[in-house]
Amino acid sequence: MRLFKALIRRNLGIMVLKDVKISDISEIRGRLGRIDTKKGQFKTPTRGLMNTELRKFFQANRTLREASDFFDNPFLEIVIDLDRFKISKLQSKSGNFENKIRSIKKDKATYDKGPVICFPRLKKEVLSLSETDINVIIELQGDSQVIDLAGIPDPRHGNYSVEFENIFRRAAKKLVTRYPDIYPVPFIRLDQDGDVVKRKINWLQAQGFKMISFIIIGDSKAGEFAVRNTLSEVEDIWVHLTNINKQFKKDVPVGVVNLKPLDYFDTVSSRKGYGGGGKTGESDRFAEVVNLTEWIPSFVTTKEDKVKRFACSTLGFLTKKEYIMRKGKQPDCSCPLCKGSSIDDFYDKLRLFKDEGIPLTVHEVFSSTNEIEGPLTTSIKKDLQEDYLRSKPTVIEFQKYFPEYITPKIKQLNDY
Ligand SMILES: [Zn+2]
Repeated sequence: MRLFKALIRRNLGIMVLKDVKISDISEIRGRLGRIDTKKGQFKTPTRGLMNTELRKFFQANRTLREASDFFDNPFLEIVIDLDRFKISKLQSKSGNFENKIRSIKKDKATYDKGPVICFPRLKKEVLSLSETDINVIIELQGDSQVIDLAGIPDPRHGNYSVEFENIFRRAAKKLVTRYPDIYPVPFIRLDQDGDVVKRKINWLQAQGFKMISFIIIGDSKAGEFAVRNTLSEVEDIWVHLTNINKQFKKDVPVGVVNLKPLDYFDTVSSRKGYGGGGKTGESDRFAEVVNLTEWIPSFVTTKEDKVKRFACSTLGFLTKKEYIMRKGKQPDCSCPLCKGSSIDDFYDKLRLFKDEGIPLTVHEVFSSTNEIEGPLTTSIKKDLQEDYLRSKPTVIEFQKYFPEYITPKIKQLNDY
């Protein structure tokens, strides 16, 4: 029963997500497309702006009220962190429900470019959700009146069943009936058996969903592989990936957000935080507690050695020393913090902030978005993804962790 398709048709005039057209699917890696929403059109691949990243921005600029002049991301993603306790508190419809709505509205008010996606991020151990649980998550998003694409979490983690279908179908129906100008978006965790992910995708596709979001969490390899095999050539579904760690691992400082569009994801969003380390908790606490001013100069030097800034020209998170060694003192970014200043200036500016994650976040979001929309997109257009990656020193240094990215052409040669 394609119930959802019928609902979409009935609500077509007011639907937020008007058209998804992936015009070009690279034989090697990646998709190029156009997403048409009620709040504007944008090209893919691109990257969303998280509300958590926006909050960092406002911590840095307390006098500012909105960020639309500083970022150019085509959509905002608002994450709501939930666990069993928080869900039951929402259900009591006490102050918690109202507080959450206020905070969603507040985040939305600061950025007005394109649609707002809501990502209900459940704690890893929440494996199944009842209809009542899902209903309150839907009501929260709908009642906030600022969400365009509302997240419906997977009610059955780890298995595919009729229950999954029934709960999901009723949730989507409830959403579009009660809030006709909101589009329901399934959020599927990727730490499930590949076959389960594939069956869920096939069912959602048959229902007519124009957007599916996937969540990177824990070991997501099998799930990612299932997405690639099932959706890489599908032209009318917006394939979104969220919760990506900015940096692969602490000792493998490659920016992962920038690699995922080559896995056939149209849009990507990151986890909160800025990646790349930097906040050396121990030294900070030490400096605060001991407050020995004569220690400060050496403390600052140590901090500088550890702070890692995202460098789009290498796709890595580099310390000041590493950056200068590779690129000299000219910055590779034109964000509000890098514009017209040297790499020395950038690190100097960090000292003005109590939490150096603030400027690092602002810079990273800006820089990584530009990189995806610019050079990465061009490489997909020209089928030069391998050359693109080979021009990125950090990726090459750690290519043993990403063999599938560096040698996509080998598969083709074998096929030939
Ligand atoms: Zn920058």
